[in-house]
Order: sequence, then C-alpha cells, then structure tokens
Amino acid sequence: MMKIGITGGIGSGKTTVCRIFENLGIPVFYADTVAKDIMVTDPVLIRGVKDAFGDESYDAAGKLNNKHIAGIVFNDHIALAKLNALVHPAVFRAFDLWMATVPSAAPYVLKEAALLFESGSNQACDQTVLVTAPVPTRLKRVTERDGATEEQVLARMNKQLNDEEKIKMADFIIRNDESQSVILQVMELHNRFTKITE
Ligand code: ATP
Repeated sequence: MMKIGITGGIGSGKTTVCRIFENLGIPVFYADTVAKDIMVTDPVLIRGVKDAFGDESYDAAGKLNNKHIAGIVFNDHIALAKLNALVHPAVFRAFDLWMATVPSAAPYVLKEAALLFESGSNQACDQTVLVTAPVPTRLKRVTERDGATEEQVLARMNKQLNDEEKIKMADFIIRNDESQSVILQVMELHNRFTKITE
C-alpha cells in the first residue's frame, strides 16, 4: 500500500487538508495525536521515559507530567533528542499496527506528522506532501485557534524547519494561502495518487 507523508508548519492547515482526504475515503494516521496517546499507553515507551527523565514523569494514576518533561526538553536539545529517540520508534510501531487495520481497498494512506522531515519519517514514505501558507496567515490562524500569543507561536515555529527548506524536500505542495482552492488541489493530488496505485 502506498504511504504518503503529509506535513506543514504550525498553522499551515495540514490537519484541515487531511480531513478533506478523509472525506475522499483515504485513511489518515495522525502521528502527533498518536504520539500523545502512546505516551500514556505504550509500556515500553513509558518505561523508557521514566528511565530517561525520572519516575516523576508520570503521576500515581499514570498521567503524563507534561510540565516536568517540557521543562527538561524545552531548552536542552540533547534531552529533546533523547525523548525523540524514544517516541519516534514507538510511533513507527503504532503506525505498523495501524497499517494492519487499513482496508485493502484503500488506494493509499496518509501519515500526517508536523515533523515529518525533521524526524526522518519521510524516508519511510513513498511520496511527500507539504502544506504551506505565509507566516502571518499561520500566526493569525493559530493565535485564533489556540488563544496563544504571537510570541508563543513563533517560538514553536522556530523549532521547525522553515518552508523554504521543506519545499526542496517535498514531492508535492498544497498552497493553503486562501488565494486558491484547497479542495481542488487535494482532488488533483488524490487523482494522481489513485492513478499511481491503479
Ligand atoms: P498544527 O501544526 O498546529 O497542528 P495545522 O497545520 O494542523 O496546525 P490546522 O489545525 O489544520 O493547521 O489549521 C489551523 C487553523 O487554521 C484551524 O483553526 C483551521 O480551521 C484554520 N484554517 C486552515 N486552513 C484554512 C483556510 N484555508 N481558510 C481558513 N481557515 C483555515
């Protein structure tokens, strides 16, 4: 089954785009949502996190102590790399399990990940799609969606590769800048991917 990686910077609209693909019947694996889930459900990952960052990473009920972990990794790139080295293989394991549940009639699947290129998961994909939008548009969308300040959104943006770098790596681009129809761009790609798998 063909695997298409889809990504985009914060507020680019990648989740919105994935919902359109879902409406066309394409199964979508949301890597970032799954990563959050498995932090509290995957015993191998939980053990690894406790060993790396202390038992206080979880409370007695098994709830993740986000503040503790974020406090360690936010300004320490070695600790962040350590966390990623635990989480990324666990997400790959979850993706393989999920793939086993995908109906064989599906023409292809999408794997949505904010850090598709940064994490190297693009290498496990047959094709990649980048959703782009201008930075001011993305700032407006995310401040409105999350009630965050522009500074908070910019801080998160600065932890991601910029669009210029990702455009060089992506096979296809969807421009979600409100100047052209996103639905038409999705339909065009869907037709192309469906033809490849026929
Ligand atoms: P994140 O990386 O934070 O998860 P994202 O790339 O998945 O963000 P979305 O959540 O899809 O982005 O979109 C961000 C916000 O912008 C949402 O509130 C969404 O409804 C809105 N949005 C996305 N695309 C458009 C568009 N073309 N027109 C208007 N609003 C849009």
